[in-house]
Amino acid sequence: MKKVSELFSGKAKTVYTTEDENRLILHFRNDTSAFDGEKIEQLDRKGMVNNKFNAFIMEKIQQAGVDTHHDKILSDQDSLVKKLDMLPIECVVRNISTGSLCRRLGVEDGVDLTPPTFEFFLKNDELHDPMINEFHINTFGWATESEVDDMKVLTFKVNDILKPLFSNAGLLLVDYKLEFGRYKGKLILGDEFTPDGCRLWDIETRAKMDKDRFRQGLGGVVEAYEEVAHRLGVQLA
Ligand code: ADP
Repeated sequence: MKKVSELFSGKAKTVYTTEDENRLILHFRNDTSAFDGEKIEQLDRKGMVNNKFNAFIMEKIQQAGVDTHHDKILSDQDSLVKKLDMLPIECVVRNISTGSLCRRLGVEDGVDLTPPTFEFFLKNDELHDPMINEFHINTFGWATESEVDDMKVLTFKVNDILKPLFSNAGLLLVDYKLEFGRYKGKLILGDEFTPDGCRLWDIETRAKMDKDRFRQGLGGVVEAYEEVAHRLGVQLA
């Protein structure tokens, strides 16, 4: 499958149409951004690592029974996906407190959350992705009530699939963000699952192995992503 034309370009990926109206190509770029695009850098190999990492995780999720948009990897930085009608919503599950949760609620960093907690955010950079609730989603028609239910069930199901996968690789899945979209009347998982959109800590040292290394200027960003991929058994070369 070949790229036909550029549909749009986000902060980390460029999306292309293909000869098949139901398929898109996602091109994972090296661009790395934080703080709603205020900090941007090019990080060598990041597009390739994220593309391969994402395919590996999407396949695991799919095999465990959650439908995803992922079809196949086409090249180092390109993947073929089903074209979804994306909902403008981000779904976040948190297993350990950190980041904006601590800033907003004044809770201590690094505490196990039992049960894990769930948040919806509106996907809108200009508004800095504000937190929203189910009533907002309903009132403004961003998703139906059954889609809201599906997003919660599916996002937690991904937690059940991925937490053991990462812990077997010596990593804590601290939190993660998912995006869903409609495909032929059904809600399925879209976008990506990479260390750009989740937090992963080493199980022993709690060292950060995700995009917080970039946000906090810790360095070794792609090296950490490669280490995570290596521990999971993702083939990079
Ligand atoms: P951002 O939107 O945060 O800048 P990206 O650079 O990752 O993020 O851009 C990718 C864009 O493609 C996002 O808007 C995402 O919602 C959208 N997208 C991801 N998967 C699909 C899909 N299968 N069909 C349609 N759009 C998708």
